[in-house]
Amino acid sequence: MSTIFTKIVKGEIPSYKIAETEKFYAFLDINPLAKGHTLVIPKLETDYIFDIEDEDIAEMIVFAKKIGLAMEANIPCKRIGMAVLGLEVPHAHIHLIPINTVYDIDFKQPKLKLESAEFEAIADSIKTTFELNN
Ligand code: 5GP
Repeated sequence: MSTIFTKIVKGEIPSYKIAETEKFYAFLDINPLAKGHTLVIPKLETDYIFDIEDEDIAEMIVFAKKIGLAMEANIPCKRIGMAVLGLEVPHAHIHLIPINTVYDIDFKQPKLKLESAEFEAIADSIKTTFELNN
C-alpha cells in the first residue's frame, strides 16, 4: 500500500506544495512546529533515508538547501534547522524548520494550528522565492 506521502505526491491527498523536481517534492508539514515547517521527500517510496542511493540523497540535500534558503527569505528566524526522524511516516523525509533557539526544533513541543489561508500564504511566499532563485 502507498504511503500517505506517495498519495500526496500523486495528488490523491492535498498538500501545500512548495516545489518539486523529477525526483523530489517539498510541502508544508500539516502539524508545524513553526510557521514554514517544510518536509522534503523523495518521490521514490523509501522508508529509511539511509537506504536512498548516494547520488539521490546528495541531490535531495541540495534540493532541501534551496528550499531552506527560500524559507529563510520569507520566515523571520535565525536559521533553518534540518532534522530527520522518520518514526511516524514510513517514507523518508527531511524536516526544514525555522528556528531561533534549540527549543524550536524540539518535536515534543505542541504543534501550531494554522488556518488553511495561512498555510497557503506561507507556501506561496516560499514557492515564489524558490522559483525566482532557481
Ligand atoms: P516523523 O515521521 O519525522 O516523526 O514525522 C512525520 C511528519 O509528517 C510529522 O511532522 C507530521 O506532522 C507530518 N505529516 C503526517 N501526515 C501528514 C499529512 O498528511 N500531510 C502533511 N503535510 N504532513 C503530514
